Amino acid sequence: MTKKRNNPETIAIHGGDYRSDPTTNAVAVPIYRTTSYQFHSTEHAANLFALKEFGNIYTRIMNPTNDVLEKRVAALEGGLSCLTVSSGQTASTFSILNVAQAGDNIISSTDLYGGTVSLFTHTLSKLGIEIRYADPANPQNFEKMIDDKTRAFYGETLPNPYLRVFPIQEVSDIGRKYNIPLIMDNTASPVICKPIEYGAAIVIHSLTKYIGGHGTAVAGSIVDSGNFDWTADPKRQPLFNEPDASYGGVIWGKAVPELTGANVPFAVRARVCLLRDLGSALSPDNAFAIIQGLETVALRMKQHCNNAEKVVNFLKKHKEITKVIYSTEHDKHLADRAKKYLKNGNGPMVGIELKGGIEAGKRFIESLKMFYHVANIGDVRSLAIHPASTTHSQLNDEELAASGVTQSYVRLCIGLEHIDDIIEDLDQALNKSSKGNLKAVS
Ligand code: PLP
Repeated sequence: MTKKRNNPETIAIHGGDYRSDPTTNAVAVPIYRTTSYQFHSTEHAANLFALKEFGNIYTRIMNPTNDVLEKRVAALEGGLSCLTVSSGQTASTFSILNVAQAGDNIISSTDLYGGTVSLFTHTLSKLGIEIRYADPANPQNFEKMIDDKTRAFYGETLPNPYLRVFPIQEVSDIGRKYNIPLIMDNTASPVICKPIEYGAAIVIHSLTKYIGGHGTAVAGSIVDSGNFDWTADPKRQPLFNEPDASYGGVIWGKAVPELTGANVPFAVRARVCLLRDLGSALSPDNAFAIIQGLETVALRMKQHCNNAEKVVNFLKKHKEITKVIYSTEHDKHLADRAKKYLKNGNGPMVGIELKGGIEAGKRFIESLKMFYHVANIGDVRSLAIHPASTTHSQLNDEELAASGVTQSYVRLCIGLEHIDDIIEDLDQALNKSSKGNLKAVS
């Protein structure tokens, strides 16, 4: 394409260099099921390994199917480079391991996906990386925790169960004063929020969710915005300013812009060091499945959000509901934040609290006929889960309250079915939620 098109609907279909397969003219992106790629000559091979030339070496580190997905996700987020990996969990893990080593710390939002909390609190801490938690209600909480060993800030754009939007620009601005990059997990809000526009340096996704969109493949991505100066304060970012013994003494912060002409040392280092060593590569089959979802993500996000908005309006008037949790249904300060950061939709997820407590929550879930009861988000199908009796059942009341989950909290991911059918299913299940015991539910 000659004209650069910036609309997400178009990027999702045409983004990146791919127009058709160069050898067969196939229009759909082929699945390149190969582990390796023949070198043209010994010189070519040596140049690839020395990063003097870029090209395919081995599918653990790069693959042409994944490459199309990477270019499209980078374009969708307004970044310069992207690395796809085997899952969203790998994306979070790599985003931290790429900046921090034993003795360093990361300052993270308290509002996080449970799997990320577990990764941070239990696994990364065992590797000597300390995660300090800051309440994002006040962005200054991030500044208070900075010390010489702070390597990054971490947040989620639209975290559940609270569904309060993260103050991206405010926290990024604080970080930039100290040369600290902001890593944003944008899993729940592709298209409707572009964190790089507000100063985020890195954007990660669980592609498993809204970008894949159909519940068929697990995948993750890491986008390098190209907007962060990794060399401005060498002491702050040692992994980008000290010679890397694992790669012939290269200094990533300097070498990558020199070699590629692009300021993307984060993406390159994650690929050639972390994928090389840890090996959590995305299979091209799964990349293909995610590409099919990506092509319609802009349309789907619009419709998820439209349906969610209608569900919120319905639930607010329902007699069995005590509280509706939604990005715009907070106090003014947080509702204004949602307005600032979310465009063309306020999010696909809705939380509810039921009058009848934990039993009502269980009865409601058991009474749903069309919604699926699953521990997932970001599917074309409407989904529901009652955290207090499932994902959060090990927590006591105090821990539940801290995580934003009450006994009767139910998380709804509003799907793409007709809105009348979604509301009808919710209504009939809500009306059963206060009645009798579980056995009486038909
Ligand atoms: N980030 C968020 C916000 C998530 O919701 C999830 C999974 O639910 C992940 C990361 C991890 O993604 P995956 O399941 O693809 O490993």
